[in-house]
Amino acid sequence: MKKLALYVFIDAFGYEIYKQHPYFLKDIATDAKPLQSVLGFTNTCLPSILSGKYPQEHGQASLFYYSDHSPFKWMKVLSFLPSFFDRFRVRNILSRALKKAYGYTGYFQLYSIPFDKLGYFDFTEKRDYFVPGAPFDTIFDYCVQNSIPYHASDWREPEERNLQAVTESIEEGDTAFAWLYLPSLDGILHKYGTQSPKVEEKIRWLDREIRNVYDKARKKYDDVALYVFSDHGMEDVTEGYDLIADIDALGLEYGKDYIAMYDSSMARFWFKNNKAREMITRKLHEIDNGSILDEEELRRLKTFFEDGKFGDLFFMMNPGIMINPSYFGKDLIAGMHGYHPDTPSSKALLISNKKIGEEITSITDIRKTMEKELAQ
Ligand SMILES: [Zn+2]
Repeated sequence: MKKLALYVFIDAFGYEIYKQHPYFLKDIATDAKPLQSVLGFTNTCLPSILSGKYPQEHGQASLFYYSDHSPFKWMKVLSFLPSFFDRFRVRNILSRALKKAYGYTGYFQLYSIPFDKLGYFDFTEKRDYFVPGAPFDTIFDYCVQNSIPYHASDWREPEERNLQAVTESIEEGDTAFAWLYLPSLDGILHKYGTQSPKVEEKIRWLDREIRNVYDKARKKYDDVALYVFSDHGMEDVTEGYDLIADIDALGLEYGKDYIAMYDSSMARFWFKNNKAREMITRKLHEIDNGSILDEEELRRLKTFFEDGKFGDLFFMMNPGIMINPSYFGKDLIAGMHGYHPDTPSSKALLISNKKIGEEITSITDIRKTMEKELAQ
């Protein structure tokens, strides 16, 4: 019997959003459930999905982390250039040039991290997650070790191209495991929010395209196990909060007293002295728009690092409140994720034409379903 395990990743297609679009793969998917996500953004969720491990186990808890050996130290000179060089387009070109110069094969973006702050950070996603040999064990390593023929999307390609590529691979009929990567719903949700007609339009398109791939697979294979899932959901943004201004107002010196990374829904701090630790902690306790994730909480979320690699202190904004401006963008946008994994909008989605076991409750459990399907 010829079998295909078809795994379709849709970025940010949270369980709450899915519930609003019940036509999605209706009559194909017989089982659907919410999955707990992990603390962080897509670059942390994807390793959790591919490895079946939590952030503190796979070590990709965030894109940027404080390092004395930053490859970006020289970029401080750019902060003295006219502000033209700080525009988004220029940063994009620069990101591409750096990616090439440093040989990074993973996703790399400078976002809005100020040039004079970049030199304090190193970067986790240096390797492509979708080819064997990532810094953590992935399902692709598993396929190689077990001689399972697989197909994986190229994350650099547009969705149309990845749909075409997976279809071609299915038509050849040699693949046992197919990984289809569809990331662009995320951008639409960020830009327009969860209730926009553009979201419905996109989900209807995804529905059509996935049905199409599934139908083709069923013609070629005796059994097709279809799993469609996401990494997290999306929260509609209600307001921005200028956390950077609050911290700057303390009069501490960035780099000498502390280092901070302002992700859009979370801030992380590294302290160089006790005074900075005390002043920043006190200030954060005064802010009603977010809360500190203490050690107990980080351990519960399996994102605790003894050496403070990803931060001595994590500050999480309340759902819907965006740090604005942040190091990931200067403008307030309609949707954001990366809030506490217990937030309803953070829940990821798993749907399948197969029965989803009771034990599958977190995005780190998706890997178990893959191995189970491939073992049969
Ligand atoms: Zn996103």
